[in-house]
Amino acid sequence: MLDEVPLTQVMQERPLSISQLRAFVRCPKSFELQYLYDPRIPQRAMGASVWFGTIIQRIIQRGYHEMPFYEAHLQVWKQACGPVFEQLQDWFQLDEEYRASGKANTNARRTWLMEHARYRVLAEQIKAYQDEHLSRWNWSEKYPLTAYYRWSCTFARTTSPVQVLLPSVVLVEGLPVYGPSGDLIRRFDDTDAREHYRLLHGVIGGAHVVGVPDEFALDEQGHAWIADNKVSASHLTPEELAEDAQLAAYYELLRQNNWISTGQPVSIGHIYIREHGVEQVWADTSRYDDQVLPLLHEQFARLKAAIAAGTFPRVRGIQPASLSPCRFCGVAHACPKPEGRTEASHAGTSLPTPTFEEERTYSW
Ligand code: SF4
Repeated sequence: MLDEVPLTQVMQERPLSISQLRAFVRCPKSFELQYLYDPRIPQRAMGASVWFGTIIQRIIQRGYHEMPFYEAHLQVWKQACGPVFEQLQDWFQLDEEYRASGKANTNARRTWLMEHARYRVLAEQIKAYQDEHLSRWNWSEKYPLTAYYRWSCTFARTTSPVQVLLPSVVLVEGLPVYGPSGDLIRRFDDTDAREHYRLLHGVIGGAHVVGVPDEFALDEQGHAWIADNKVSASHLTPEELAEDAQLAAYYELLRQNNWISTGQPVSIGHIYIREHGVEQVWADTSRYDDQVLPLLHEQFARLKAAIAAGTFPRVRGIQPASLSPCRFCGVAHACPKPEGRTEASHAGTSLPTPTFEEERTYSW
């Protein structure tokens, strides 16, 4: 029985994550390809919104350390896109002039464009950088790098900290915001090379699991708040949030690491960073003990059992094409063909060390 394996032994095992569980539940073969093959098969065509999510999260994280959002925006973009940072700034300045020149599809805007050729030249230079250095992401026509820069700039200039930052925050990316004496911990100056996130470890379904929420707060009434920030178009209702596996895993890991005690009131939420505003959605954990957590433990136990047995069946053909996850599979290029031919080699029993920086990225 998995549950009878000593805790210390479980914690020595290769850790699993909610991203891995989601991959496994979607298709066991895709989990195997992404996480057990050596070298791991990277997902193709992952949406650039995932990349942008990490940018926004870095800005918010700096906000918790009292860096103004706009200053944080500049620092993060300079670090992420240094070679085109000046072009992005120049482009954005012209973009504001362009948008102020008239309504969309008017002669006023057309005239402005003819008189400002540099606007197009800058966009082309930035696009060339995007194609060369950020090509692993799938960029939509509506949201190239320039559009995400505009979004980030607008967020940084128009968002008040109280719209986004949780009061009474304790942990951001698993790291304390305040020291033992209550002083704000200074991070993110130009010389700060320390870690900027720390995973929580625990045991779920008999498996070693790691993860960390974007934020964890504890207010004066003892109410705990677990939040993740999202830039994706999807939007969960409170009902859906109440059974979201990612937030439930964070809850369980926080509880096992003594940040939450039994019976303590807890709210779980998503903070949606939209292009033109911020929205928070919260739910309670009243269904956790009876429904959500038992299911989460069961699913991680299934994943652990599958790894032990080495069984990862493909789902191709099981569902009708319209419902098949194969349509959106980022590792389909390496999925074994029906005749058994594979395009990637298996590592046998030697498992590679997972990259949890990537896990954090995927959680967006
Ligand atoms: S193509 Fe289909 S069967 Fe193959 S790994 Fe992807 S989801 Fe699974």
